[in-house]
Amino acid sequence: MEMKCKTCGRALKTEDEGIIWRRCEICKTPVCFNDIHYMGTKVKGLYKDYIMVIPVCEDELKRKK
Ligand SMILES: [Zn+2]
Ligand SMILES: [Zn+2]
Repeated sequence: MEMKCKTCGRALKTEDEGIIWRRCEICKTPVCFNDIHYMGTKVKGLYKDYIMVIPVCEDELKRKK
């Protein structure tokens, strides 16, 4: 299956997942490593809340502001 990077439109292959691209943790869209961003998000833990860093597309950063 052929996919495209959400940000730059570059063609991505399924077998290259984790090598040249990842899925945005929020919208689940493929994003290449050139365009991926990392965002800290608060997660409810068993004893206390902690910050987890997740890969996201450019759009989620804009949405946060
Ligand atoms: Zn890209
Ligand atoms: Zn996204």
